[in-house]
Amino acid sequence: MPVATQRSSVPVSVDAEKCIAHKGCTVCVDVCPLDVLAIDLSKGTAYMKFDECWYCMPCEQDCPTGAVHVDIPYLLR
Ligand code: SF4
Ligand code: SF4
Repeated sequence: MPVATQRSSVPVSVDAEKCIAHKGCTVCVDVCPLDVLAIDLSKGTAYMKFDECWYCMPCEQDCPTGAVHVDIPYLLR
């Protein structure tokens, strides 16, 4: 799986203002069946570690603060 080098261009983005990973939340990391999300311990926020996604959406749906946004490619909508 390719490591996400450019965080701005990956399909899943996390709003650092809303993310409460620094309070112990790991919901998006736990629900992702591909294990592509991770917590950046230095920033206390979640991020997309690997540039791979099934667009299955639980990360966005289950985030308690609405911090996750999945950018679904036009052809999959
Ligand atoms: S589920 Fe939401 S609040 Fe929790 S770690 Fe993921 S992005 Fe942050
Ligand atoms: S949409 Fe699915 S595969 Fe993609 S990051 Fe979220 S949970 Fe993981």
